[in-house]
Amino acid sequence: MKTQSQPSRRQFIKQTASASVLAITPAIWSKNISLIGLKPKEKMGIALVGLGYYSGQVLAPALQETENCYLAGVVTGTPEKEKVWAEKYGIKDQNIYNYETYDQIADNDDIDIIYVVLPNSMHAEYVIRAAKAGKHVICEKPMASSVEECEAMIKACEDNNRKLSIGYRMQFEPHTQEIMRLGQEKVFGSVKLVNAGAGYREARADHWKLNQEMGGGAMMDMGVYALQAARYVTGEEPIAVTAQSFTTRPEIFTEVDETTMFQLEFPSGALANLHTSFGMGMNYLNVTAEKGWFKLDPFSAYGGIKGESKNGPIDFPQINQQAAQMDGQAMSVMEDKPMQVPGEEGLRDMRVVEAVYRAIESGDQEKV
Ligand code: NAD
Repeated sequence: MKTQSQPSRRQFIKQTASASVLAITPAIWSKNISLIGLKPKEKMGIALVGLGYYSGQVLAPALQETENCYLAGVVTGTPEKEKVWAEKYGIKDQNIYNYETYDQIADNDDIDIIYVVLPNSMHAEYVIRAAKAGKHVICEKPMASSVEECEAMIKACEDNNRKLSIGYRMQFEPHTQEIMRLGQEKVFGSVKLVNAGAGYREARADHWKLNQEMGGGAMMDMGVYALQAARYVTGEEPIAVTAQSFTTRPEIFTEVDETTMFQLEFPSGALANLHTSFGMGMNYLNVTAEKGWFKLDPFSAYGGIKGESKNGPIDFPQINQQAAQMDGQAMSVMEDKPMQVPGEEGLRDMRVVEAVYRAIESGDQEKV
């Protein structure tokens, strides 16, 4: 748990400012100068909030491979996990928090970035509290449960002069970056049609992903990958949506969508025909352009991304996507540069997700 042996960053700023020892400006601090010797920190300390599947199985192992950041702390509501994580990853006692002591991270100079990996309905509260604690924030996808929440999260980070990024790992992946280039630079002419599907079979009937209040549903969970692909391939924002929802397991999908098909229209006239599901495994992206085609299959799996275009294979090294993502985000913080995938990117997706749910309800085309 948190103990306080050294002056906090805030206390240090207050003390030095009042004594006029050193003119430390917020700009200097935003470049992450460490207290000792005022040397820039070589690595950003990340604290994971919520130690479930993604933190435990994927992000913490990835943080053993990162160069610009490391696992400095954790926030958990489960006391038994504290010891396990401390021993496994050598986390200091004073860098382990629970949901009650969370806001005290404000006084912890080891932690530069808070990474929120909680159920979707909890993202907004924990991102806003992180920003108020003076920390930069990474938030898992989908950004939140509503557009309103996304806007409040962006505002909280702006008000506190903190950076906010969404855990959209594919935008850091080389095959994905290549198909973004092929689409946005119109290498095969204008994109005409994007077909994509992302799904897996969710068998945990009691999981929060099947609970609407917790921000569950296939569209929220896997649908955002297909939606992201349509947006980053075209480089455009959809203007209108139609959508249909289906279930083969009505006994467990009582609140959220199991399978959703959604169709997007873009300003250029490009179309997207997208699917997502908690009932079936699928992962593919096919793009038809004026003078050619390109595809990734799979396009958003953790590894093994494979691509091809009309001109031949799209072949790049396989990387640890999460390590690349967190290294990129840490570098943006260290260099005080804009995040590659800022909060606005999550907000734009949430506008479409809300339109998809409206279209399922109305059966009509809905404007975004
Ligand atoms: P999970 O259920 O395995 O973990 C959630 C954690 O939150 C658990 O440790 C749980 O104890 C904690 N928690 C705190 N309060 C809770 C509450 N009221 N109800 C339920 N759990 C509570 O979920 P996960 O699969 O790790 O997903 C977490 C987030 O990460 C989600 O936003 C999800 O979309 C995202 N995610 C992203 C990827 C990716 O590839 N980017 C992959 C998996 C999950």
